[in-house]
Amino acid sequence: MLVPRGFAALMTPGDPCDPLLRQVLPLRAERLTVAGFSRDPVGDTSADLGHGLLRKYAGRALLIATGGCAVHCRYCFRRHFPYASLGLGADRTAVALALIAEDPGISEVILSGGDPLMLDDDRLEELIGRLHAIPHLKRLRIHTRLPVVLPSRITGALCRLLAGTRFATLVVIHANHPHELGTQAENALRRLRGADLAVLNQSVLLRGVNDAVDTLCALGERLFACGVLPYYLHQLDPVEGAAHFAVSDAQALQLGEELRHRLPGYLVPRLVREVPGIGSKIPLAESVRNGDRFL
Ligand code: SF4
Repeated sequence: MLVPRGFAALMTPGDPCDPLLRQVLPLRAERLTVAGFSRDPVGDTSADLGHGLLRKYAGRALLIATGGCAVHCRYCFRRHFPYASLGLGADRTAVALALIAEDPGISEVILSGGDPLMLDDDRLEELIGRLHAIPHLKRLRIHTRLPVVLPSRITGALCRLLAGTRFATLVVIHANHPHELGTQAENALRRLRGADLAVLNQSVLLRGVNDAVDTLCALGERLFACGVLPYYLHQLDPVEGAAHFAVSDAQALQLGEELRHRLPGYLVPRLVREVPGIGSKIPLAESVRNGDRFL
């Protein structure tokens, strides 16, 4: 269990059902074996070219920059990812960067993890600098939960580092409940926006956390107040140990429908599912029609 103090301070003391607490509290239910829940729910293993470079989507490559996170989310789809076997040192990164450099079809690199902003500024600057030197790369995307769970990481120096490249840079944060976006997170997000970085949010639909239309509406509105647009609302990836967070597809679709009625279009996230081996996220309604998988 790992939770930054600032994130814990946003919880309501004494409330075992607090939606922030629920995201980080290990429960005995994680030990249950549930059919359909696996250790690699989105096919990361088969997408791994080796050395932590994942190719799933056309024109994009995802680089596992580090295995570290500031928080351990109990529903994380990479909770069983074999980070240790990657070897996270300079050699591994050099091979991954060489693979990117060899493939002119890659125009966007997604730094993921773990959380790439767990790298200190020097290591991040070195990594981005080496990506910079690959001429066919145009966009840099950073998937991070740190602006939400450890907002103090978003310093002016970091914003300058991220903004000071030739890349069109996009920061995709991860917040699931409006209570996660306190004043500190809001200030961090404003610093990112103030550096002219595009910032989007992705959420995971989680039972007992955000499986209510009022909560999702409040999240969209709170994100927008912080200068962030909702991007994806993911149906839970069925990872072993997280079945107690599952929301049925039928309920998820109903929530998506209600959101569309309640919010302006720009605040409605795309309700999607990731299906292993498919080269894009799939709208949940289409996935259900395809009979991909039902929760
Ligand atoms: S911050 Fe992201 S990668 Fe890290 S544990 Fe949470 S969901 Fe997983």
